[in-house]
Amino acid sequence: MSTTFQPVLDRIATEIDATPGRGRPADYIPALASADPNRFAMAVADLDGTVCGVGEWQHPFSTQSITKAFTLALALSLEGDELWEHVGREPSGNPFNSLVQLEYENGIPRNPFINAGALVVTDRLQKLTGDASGALRTFLRAESGNPELTFDLEIAASEAAHGDRNAALAHFMASYGNITNPVPELLDQYIRQCSIAASCGDLALAAGFLARHGIRADGSTLLTRSRAKQVNAVMLTCGTYDAAGDFAHRVGLPGKSGVGGGIIAVVPGHCTICVWSPGLDQRGNSVAGVAALDRFTTLTGLSIF
Ligand code: GLN
Repeated sequence: MSTTFQPVLDRIATEIDATPGRGRPADYIPALASADPNRFAMAVADLDGTVCGVGEWQHPFSTQSITKAFTLALALSLEGDELWEHVGREPSGNPFNSLVQLEYENGIPRNPFINAGALVVTDRLQKLTGDASGALRTFLRAESGNPELTFDLEIAASEAAHGDRNAALAHFMASYGNITNPVPELLDQYIRQCSIAASCGDLALAAGFLARHGIRADGSTLLTRSRAKQVNAVMLTCGTYDAAGDFAHRVGLPGKSGVGGGIIAVVPGHCTICVWSPGLDQRGNSVAGVAALDRFTTLTGLSIF
């Protein structure tokens, strides 16, 4: 079925190519700063795992916060609703690395997709598995069918050398008793998680369980239908940070972005999409990525609304 998306993807790539203004790569992680904003890739996977793509769709890029959708799903599958005692599910209306709400809200982050919330989710997953980033890599390899998918240790080292903000968030939450592991161990796991390199094809496949209502590529159940719906709902309302309203307005799908320039998006019951272009807007979302998803849902009529 996904071959029917090829003409749409080709058209979007041509349109994006002709559109000036790509934003700027993230520079607070030095290893990401040199990425060329003119690069572009997009892939669509249908429910049975057939993939089509355009541009550099098989080229691995830095997934960064896209991984937060997967760690949330893994932690929820192991811990269930108790997870929500440690992290909320409301949009924050603040930048992804903001500290300001945490003190007012007693160390419970607003949602699992801002950095504070993702640190809590990784902390829970670390407690449950003993190796959160390893569990994530195993899952992504299995779902994408790519045994080479792995951490980019150069990017991890670059982020670790500039990690004061995340360290501050983690220590602050630990002071409220909302972090169980030693903070240095948690930061190491979180940074490794964010450093995973994967292609648009890999990520479109790996997100497939969100379109299949919680069912993994091998037919087993990761999440109940209701929990898969919850993850999609949090992606819609919080997955692109303080731009989530604008993203819902333009794209109309659950999505999760990362500062590497990637975005995954889900059409429940239909397909998953991943787009990558490293130039970001002020709020940390890929400029060409959002534009491409906007065109995709406009041209295909696919949307949850
Ligand atoms: N590793 C990045 C950070 O913690 C991820 C941020 C993002 O992709 N929005 O700052």
